Amino acid sequence: MKRLDVAIVGAGAAGIAAGRYLAASGLDVLLVEATDRIGGRAHTAFHEGLHFDLGCGWLHSADRNGWASLAPELGFHLDRTTPPWGVQFRDLGFPAADQRAARAAFARFEQRLREASSGSDRASDLLDGNDRWTPYLEALSTYINGTELEQLSVRDYLAYADAETAVNWRVTEGYGSLIAAAAKDVPVALNTAITGIDASGHALRLTSVRGEIEAECVIVTTPTDVLASGAIRLPPRASDHIDAAGALPLGLADKIIFKLSDCDGFEPDTQVLGNPYVKRTASYHIRPFGRPLIEGFVGGETAREFEADGDAFAAFARDELAGLFGHGIRSRLEPIAQSRWGRQPFSRGSYSHALPGHALARAILASDVDGRLFFAGEACSALDFSTAHGAFQTGLAAARAVLNSRRA
Ligand SMILES: Cc1cc2nc3c(=O)[nH]c(=O)nc-3n(C[C@H](O)[C@H](O)[C@H](O)COP(=O)(O)OP(=O)(O)OC[C@H]3O[C@@H](n4cnc5c(N)ncnc54)[C@H](O)[C@@H]3O)c2cc1C
Repeated sequence: MKRLDVAIVGAGAAGIAAGRYLAASGLDVLLVEATDRIGGRAHTAFHEGLHFDLGCGWLHSADRNGWASLAPELGFHLDRTTPPWGVQFRDLGFPAADQRAARAAFARFEQRLREASSGSDRASDLLDGNDRWTPYLEALSTYINGTELEQLSVRDYLAYADAETAVNWRVTEGYGSLIAAAAKDVPVALNTAITGIDASGHALRLTSVRGEIEAECVIVTTPTDVLASGAIRLPPRASDHIDAAGALPLGLADKIIFKLSDCDGFEPDTQVLGNPYVKRTASYHIRPFGRPLIEGFVGGETAREFEADGDAFAAFARDELAGLFGHGIRSRLEPIAQSRWGRQPFSRGSYSHALPGHALARAILASDVDGRLFFAGEACSALDFSTAHGAFQTGLAAARAVLNSRRA
């Protein structure tokens, strides 16, 4: 068995960012990936000449996003079309005055969160029970955080940095394709799930379904729900990391992609919310990039419900769209793909949020064990958690920490 300088567990955004940096620094590095695909929660899928992202799609904080900087170098194109969020296409089912009222309710709620930063850390405690927009706020939370406000730490939510830049771009060829392409010069072992890391010897010893791997240092980038499940036996000194991962569970967000047989009447890059007056509703991105597609998006308990029930998401989305666009749209919609991130055994969800009272868990998860076992991944990011660029930064941070530790 050859001893590696660094083994990186997981070939998602964080692992790839770390792998590129360490390989370019001349280290003998291996990305060890459980599935048969590079990218993790970044996944561009293809259907009859069309492509779409089933995981991350938006380069948030694009003006300081590591993937945006890398895209031109890798031959990818950035699309700077303004996101359609928050504007209902033709005010369908959501009159302009109500859209203004709903936005104002969201602003009031965020103001209450900021004012309560020294009080309750449970976001649902800051809801105003008399506000008619409470279901709307709950629905937004399931999209943004992947979870209901009941499960959301106020302090963690407020720490998220994107609101300050609010620049959102896309990759024409797909965010998932860009992230996978970034791994091109990094050795990868696919179909190699790691089941244990032993730190009792001089080198770290990883047990995988395909045999053992030895490495001087290891960077673990697996999603928090994978870590918290005990699927990887970690050294006893990493028990705080496992607890931290448990306090940073993955919320759920899923997409359904419909092919539109006829685009007449649908303007490119517009959006509708299925029903702004209830929590159990989906948001629909109409004709992303002008393509003949509609991308439906749900989160939280609604996403969980649809994952459990075969065609429920497609039927629900068809009903909501028919309610807005008329019965005729039904025959123009062909479901061509659907994500079920909670059912992927090596993802187990979509993006992390901190449970009330646990905003500090991110710093614990991001700390190293004895200068040779390191952690990265979106959940380790203090300010850009839940995103692919946050994952990128944590991968780089872990790679730099590995180099520093080897020099010490
Ligand atoms: C529906 C959806 C929409 C999203 N939208 C956006 C968006 O618009 N913008 C944005 O920035 N972010 C978005 N995200 C979040 C973004 O995709 C993630 O934050 C990011 O991709 C996470 O990268 P990561 O490297 O931390 O983890 P992952 O991508 O999950 O990588 C971890 C890797 O570890 C592997 N692994 C797990 N267990 C093992 C094991 N035992 N052994 C070996 N390998 C293992 C996994 O297979 C995976 O490849 C979205 C996510 C979803 C699901």
